[in-house]
Amino acid sequence: MTPIAKGRLFVISGPSGVGKGTLRKALFKSVQGLEYSVSCTTREPRNREIDGVDYQFIDLDHFKDLVKEGRFLEWAEVHGNFYGTLKENVKRILESGRDAILEIDVQGALQVKESEPGAVLIFIMPPSEKELRSRLKRRGTEKEEDLRNRISGSRDEMLLSARYDHLVVNDDLGRALESLRKIIEGYRDPQRSPKSFS
Ligand code: ADP
Ligand code: 5GP
Repeated sequence: MTPIAKGRLFVISGPSGVGKGTLRKALFKSVQGLEYSVSCTTREPRNREIDGVDYQFIDLDHFKDLVKEGRFLEWAEVHGNFYGTLKENVKRILESGRDAILEIDVQGALQVKESEPGAVLIFIMPPSEKELRSRLKRRGTEKEEDLRNRISGSRDEMLLSARYDHLVVNDDLGRALESLRKIIEGYRDPQRSPKSFS
């Protein structure tokens, strides 16, 4: 009997401002069959963010209810706000046969690997802390204190990168995109190990 087509779960992490969102958007233009799993967050929307597209923006009580109901595949507190991935979103994507892309922090990524060992963890590294700081500043979405928090948090995140399956340095955007594309397409080789999601 032919098995039901199922997608694979890819998790992208890296320090705030390293370029995860930029890379992800470019990746979707060059690789077919991917779908982004939109996370829930209690953080305030930034200027151009759209509810349901960038995040599902929800309040803390709603977030706590979702935790209690066991609706998250993973969730974590990051830089003072809560973020989580709904199981139902990931399940829907994988059952459609597309590969799911999660862009989440290291705590969440390790929770996913624990419950879904077939998930592929990819860590995006900055070329240097100086460059990371200047990208965050240039983006201009955080106040000075939040910016400092994000930079200091990045050191702990980078320590945990050793537990990831792949590291990609986002120095030149085109080169980083190419590395990411090759990693993902490499897993589409039918000879590779089976996937799982329950
Ligand atoms: P993240 O999603 O990891 O927080 P963003 O994608 O928002 O990061 O990128 C942060 C800033 O860095 C943005 O202004 C983006 O245009 C810029 N950026 C991303 N990748 C590169 C790169 N390879 N070289 C220079 N600037 C970059
Ligand atoms: P930002 O506030 O800059 O959008 O995201 C801050 C951090 O939260 C980033 O490291 C981002 O990857 C992470 N994040 C976004 N969504 C989720 C999620 O659903 N779960 C977890 N654990 N982290 C998330």
